[in-house]
Amino acid sequence: MDLISIIVPCYNEEEALPLFYRELQQVMTQMELTTFEVIFVDDGSSDGTLAWMRELHRRDKRCRYLSFSRNFGKEAAIYAGLLHAEGDYVATMDADLQDPPALLPQMYRVLREEDYECAAARRVTREGEPGLRSFLSKQFYHCANRISQVEFKDGARDFRLMSRKMVQAVLELGEYNRFSKGMFSWVGFRTKWLDYENVERAAGETKWSLRKLFLYALEGIAGFSTAPLMAAAVCGCIVCMLALLFGVAGIGALFAGTSLWAGAFLLAGLVLLVSGVQLLCGGISSWYLARTYLEVKHRPVFILQESGGGQEHAEKKCIFETIVPKKGEETQYGTSA
Ligand code: UDP
Ligand code: MG
Repeated sequence: MDLISIIVPCYNEEEALPLFYRELQQVMTQMELTTFEVIFVDDGSSDGTLAWMRELHRRDKRCRYLSFSRNFGKEAAIYAGLLHAEGDYVATMDADLQDPPALLPQMYRVLREEDYECAAARRVTREGEPGLRSFLSKQFYHCANRISQVEFKDGARDFRLMSRKMVQAVLELGEYNRFSKGMFSWVGFRTKWLDYENVERAAGETKWSLRKLFLYALEGIAGFSTAPLMAAAVCGCIVCMLALLFGVAGIGALFAGTSLWAGAFLLAGLVLLVSGVQLLCGGISSWYLARTYLEVKHRPVFILQESGGGQEHAEKKCIFETIVPKKGEETQYGTSA
């Protein structure tokens, strides 16, 4: 019998949790051929959330809880849940019923019967959400997809059911600044997207102010794209080209005998050249910084989904194998020591 772990990050959710549990209980009863563990993660709540979790754990042993010493954020709560989950399949979902538990049986069927490692939910409408928030979210997805190598699906929620294989891959990314949407996408694996209409919060209030959302968006961009670091180099190149144009115009004006224009053009060209070279130098340093940044994240070089043949358990062993060049071997960065 499969064990499904459900991770629920909770921050001041005392009003929503009883409604959530009631609905989840119905789904768990419906899925009688599976067993469940529900991991509620109290993210430093200041209301009765933790007390409710303790009481629930006393009554229903399938429900466990973890409680943080302070508010570390939803990403930290998801990570803690993933670390503690023991299931063959692991789901993450919000406590406010915006991620309908009723989708869970369908997600489970997708993973069991079809060739997918992940079934994820995607809102196709944003009805009920403030207009400004929808607009800014759309802009974020547009911009992030342009400058990042991983795909950020518009409307994607953190609500998903993953196979153990995919969970292990996500856990392999031990970085401190976590952005789950990007990580789920970065590790790859076949994902089926299940569309659904937006659902409004069952009770309580959203914990995301525009400021928090903005910082979250920056986190996503900084974590999965080094394009902003390279922007200085691109600007530097453009400014240097402008300097060249002004230089040519200045020399042209000198030959034409209009020395006033020649002086102005040459001066402008000189100023642009100096700032362009500075920007370019800054950009080159950023290029190295970007590479160092990617190195210190210690992300695996590749993730195997499957392998055929080889020793027993070879697949397991080499899933997160990092390619380390042998001594003296030629690499793209030169000869390794
Ligand atoms: N949450 C959390 N820590 C936080 C903020 C939110 O664990 O610092 C949880 C929250 O309790 C909920 C989920 O993350 O279960 C989504 O939060 P919310 O509903 O406020 O976000 P929204 O749906 O408005 O984007
Ligand atoms: Mg919500």
